[in-house]
Amino acid sequence: MGVQIISGTPRVSVEYFPAKGVVKERALMTAAHALRRFGLDFQTVTFGAGGTGVDGAFEWCTQLAQITDVPTVCHVTLSHFERRESLFAFLDSLWNAGIRRLVLLRGDAAEGRDGLCGYASVADALAAIKNQQCWDISVAAYPETHPLAQSADDDLYVLRAKQEAGADRAITQFFFNNADFYAFRDRALRAGVTLALVPGIMPITNFDRIASFAHACGAKVPVELQEAFAQCGNDTERHSDLARLYVQAQVTDLAANGVEAIHVYSMNRVDLAADALRAFKAAFVEQAAPLARAG
Ligand code: FAD
Repeated sequence: MGVQIISGTPRVSVEYFPAKGVVKERALMTAAHALRRFGLDFQTVTFGAGGTGVDGAFEWCTQLAQITDVPTVCHVTLSHFERRESLFAFLDSLWNAGIRRLVLLRGDAAEGRDGLCGYASVADALAAIKNQQCWDISVAAYPETHPLAQSADDDLYVLRAKQEAGADRAITQFFFNNADFYAFRDRALRAGVTLALVPGIMPITNFDRIASFAHACGAKVPVELQEAFAQCGNDTERHSDLARLYVQAQVTDLAANGVEAIHVYSMNRVDLAADALRAFKAAFVEQAAPLARAG
C-alpha cells in the first residue's frame, strides 16, 4: 500500500466565542494560548451567535490579539445594527483597536428589522465596508445549502455576489461528509466562484449538542456517525476517542483532496481542536529547502 505524499503549505485557523464567567473565561484563555502554537493563520471571535448579543466580541477580539499575537478577526453580523451609522461606528472602534479583519455575516434578523442594516445584501454591505477601509473580509458559504436559500443555485449566486464585492475568502458552515464539500466545491467553480473556500470543521465535543447545532443550520449528520456515538452511551472516554478519530480522518481526507486551509470551530476547547489542527498539518510534507550548491 503506498503512502500519499502531499506537498504544499497547510494553513489553519480557529474560531472562539466570547466567554462569560471566570471558568469559561479561563477555558478560552487556555485554548487561545495552546492553539496559537499551531502557527495559526488567524483566529476569529463570533458575534452574537445563538442570540448571545454582541457583548464581549470587541473585548475578546482585542484581548486575544494582544495576548496571542495571532491576527484576530471579528465576526460582524449586519442584523445586529439598526442603522449604518452604528455599524460603521463599531467598525471604526475595531479599526482603531488594530483589528483589520472581519467575517461579515447577515446574522439572525431581529423582529421588525430587515436584518441587513439597510443594505440590499451582505455583498452590498461588503462593498461599502471595503470602500471605507482596507479590511480583509471573509464571508460564509454553505456546502449543504443555507436552510433559507431559495435554491442551491441561488445560494451560489449569493456567494458569487460576495466574491464580486471583494470578499477575500469564504469559510464554510461545518459538514460531516466530505463528499458534500467536494461536490459543493465543484458546483461553486462551475458557477464562477473562484474565491478560496475554507472548510469549517466542527469537532464533536458533545454529540447531542453538535447534532442539535447541525439540525439548526441544515448540516446532515450521517447515520453511521449517529450510530457510532449512540454506542458510546455514557462512556465519555469512548466518545472522546471516537470524536478524535473522526476529526483526524476528516481533515486528513480533506488534505488528500486538495484542501490547503481549514478553519476549526474550537468551541473554546483545546483537545479536539488541537487533534484536528495537528492531523491536518501532519498530512503535508514540508517542502524541502533546495540544497545549497557546492561552490
Ligand atoms: P447571506 O450571504 O445573506 O445568505 C446566505 C444564504 O442564506 C443565501 O442563500 C440567502 O438567500 C439565505 N438566507 C439567509 N438568511 C436569509 C433570510 N433571512 N431570508 C432569505 N434568505 C436568507 N451568526 C451569528 O449570529 N454570529 C456569528 O458570529 C456567526 N458566524 C458564522 C460564521 C460562519 C463561518 C458561518 C458559516 C456562519 C456564521 N453565522 C453566524 C451564521 C450566519 O449569520 C447565518 O447562517 C445567516 O443566516 C446567514 O448569514 P450569511 O452572511 O451567509 O447570509
